[in-house]
Amino acid sequence: MREFGYQRADDVTGAVALLDADPDARYLGGGTNLVDLMKTGVERPARLVDIRRLPLDRIEQTDDGGLRIGATVTNSDLAAHPEIRRRYPALTQAVLAGASGQLRNMATVGGNLLQRTRCGYFADVTKPCNKREPGSGCPAVEGEHRNHAVLGATEHCVAVHPSDMGVALTAFDAVVSYETAEGSGEVPLADFYLPVGDTPHRETALPPGALITGVTLPAAPVAARSRYRKVRERASYAFAIGSIAAALDVRDGVVRDVRLAFGAVASRPWRARSAERALLGAPADAEHFAAAAEAELAAARPLPDNAYKVTLMRNLVVAVLTELAEEAAR
Ligand SMILES: Cc1cc2nc3c(=O)[nH]c(=O)nc-3n(C[C@H](O)[C@H](O)[C@H](O)COP(=O)(O)OP(=O)(O)OC[C@H]3O[C@@H](n4cnc5c(N)ncnc54)[C@H](O)[C@@H]3O)c2cc1C
Ligand code: SF4
Repeated sequence: MREFGYQRADDVTGAVALLDADPDARYLGGGTNLVDLMKTGVERPARLVDIRRLPLDRIEQTDDGGLRIGATVTNSDLAAHPEIRRRYPALTQAVLAGASGQLRNMATVGGNLLQRTRCGYFADVTKPCNKREPGSGCPAVEGEHRNHAVLGATEHCVAVHPSDMGVALTAFDAVVSYETAEGSGEVPLADFYLPVGDTPHRETALPPGALITGVTLPAAPVAARSRYRKVRERASYAFAIGSIAAALDVRDGVVRDVRLAFGAVASRPWRARSAERALLGAPADAEHFAAAAEAELAAARPLPDNAYKVTLMRNLVVAVLTELAEEAAR
């Protein structure tokens, strides 16, 4: 492991100034992803700026009825918060479906959104990888890609984003707030992750050196009836091979409001807007849920070994929406 400097930031301005002064520095949240990547040589920061003591560890009501989640709130505290559990249950379920209790006690909201892909070639510095080393190639396209993307990928990179939390936040139109030396800014999570294109190494719309300060969830009554379902290769402590965050409002058997986002199928949490459009005003039954899934998955371009994800996602849409519709009818 290379030597690196370590500095603890006391306030947001100081943290941002430290990154501004040293482009080779990185913010340190819980360290559960960054430190692993430093051990393997994928990340080689000259300095870590520890942000865990910044006053960004609260979850607060916003004036318009939403919730603002500080960037250093731990995954455990987020999942356990009574207002998150009551108003956005799919978010609690998504967070609890990730990693382990010990990891969730350390991992932070900002770090979770910025965790890197679990593609094996990305993690192995002896292999080419366009995301790690632009222009070196993407061995996953013809190699191991069972858990890679079926939506929105290009021949330059077919990796998926591993976050569970991000899928639920995407379904509920979360907005990311950040601070830079030039001032503060906001970006909707829908625009936060950049399209893969031919630049898979450019992952987010954050300006260089930006510190994520929080994530705001707008008020969303439909989210109170929501669910996160994660499919993985073993029952716990594993990343998703496909997941869904869904919320449904049904009245008189008709879909009045719906939110759908998919995980582990694209380089970012995937908001299923085509499916949502197909469902609004439609009868809340399995036939229409399946048609909506087909509308979304028509854009899927699976590789030889991951076509199973298309079937998996269609079945997840039908199963989870059917459960939510049955609950609404009770
Ligand atoms: C064994 C294992 C299993 C896991 N399983 C899952 C799973 O099933 N589902 C899932 O979603 N996740 C899973 N994870 C990933 C885990 O959730 C992430 O590692 C964690 O959320 C990252 O948060 P962190 O605070 O530790 O980030 P760090 O490791 O500290 O940072 C990650 C990146 O974010 C940057 N960063 C951190 N905070 C900020 C900020 N506020 N502003 C700007 N940049 C910032 C860092 O510089 C770094 O680049 C797993 C991890 C492990 C090790
Ligand atoms: S899929 Fe992306 S992360 Fe994986 S090897 Fe290809 S370029 Fe690298």
